[in-house]
Amino acid sequence: MEKGINKAVRQHLEMDEFFTGGLTIKSEGAMSQSIGGEDKEAIAQAGAELEKIAEEVGKCCKCELGSSRKNAVPGEGSPRARIVFVGEAPGADEDSQGRPFVGRAGKLLDNIIKAMGLERGDVFICNILKCRPPGNRDPRPEEIVSCLPYLQKQLEIIDPEIIVALGAHAAKTLLKTNEAIGRLRGHFHDYYTGVGKPPIKLMPTYHPAYLLRSYSPDNRRRVWEDMQKVLAELDLPIPGPAKK
Ligand code: URA
Repeated sequence: MEKGINKAVRQHLEMDEFFTGGLTIKSEGAMSQSIGGEDKEAIAQAGAELEKIAEEVGKCCKCELGSSRKNAVPGEGSPRARIVFVGEAPGADEDSQGRPFVGRAGKLLDNIIKAMGLERGDVFICNILKCRPPGNRDPRPEEIVSCLPYLQKQLEIIDPEIIVALGAHAAKTLLKTNEAIGRLRGHFHDYYTGVGKPPIKLMPTYHPAYLLRSYSPDNRRRVWEDMQKVLAELDLPIPGPAKK
């Protein structure tokens, strides 16, 4: 049996690799929903519907962020993703490029996705707000109310098996709760897309930007554990440390 100290050392090494992108087992073909003949058309249609939402978002002026943004950031990824990652709002880098999670927090999210044995293109990445709040201030309630229908439509189209809510804003908004992220994370909640439809499982976890600010072994372990639960729920292999 693995002794306590060895186990602790192994877990620490695995965790380090998790956050530096060292765990790289690819779950081949397991990440998008089935791609049979007739499904190809459905995928193309879902892609076109997502594209239409992106166009609407690009022209949106429902709140004042529409006049301060450089670029809207609708989100990107597979129209058939099994996992959708939802962050808070674009920052300066995302605003410049029109793409979600491309700055420092985005690099960490990339490593987390890689450590899960996946690639960015396997999942869908987006935010609660599609435009950058000036100075990266918190989203305002009226901005969330204006913007949320875009995300709701994206989730309806993609119909993922799991939503990962990155940070307090995403988790509290999607779950309609004021519970602290520290209490919400670590277990699955139900996200309802509409009346009569079964809920989608939602795993809240810490936002990568929070992790960068509080890069403690405990916080990193918690995020890693949350992602392991996501993989287990999808019946995907949980990558081990790379062989040296
Ligand atoms: N933080 C977010 O919440 N979203 C991004 O796209 C980038 C940083």
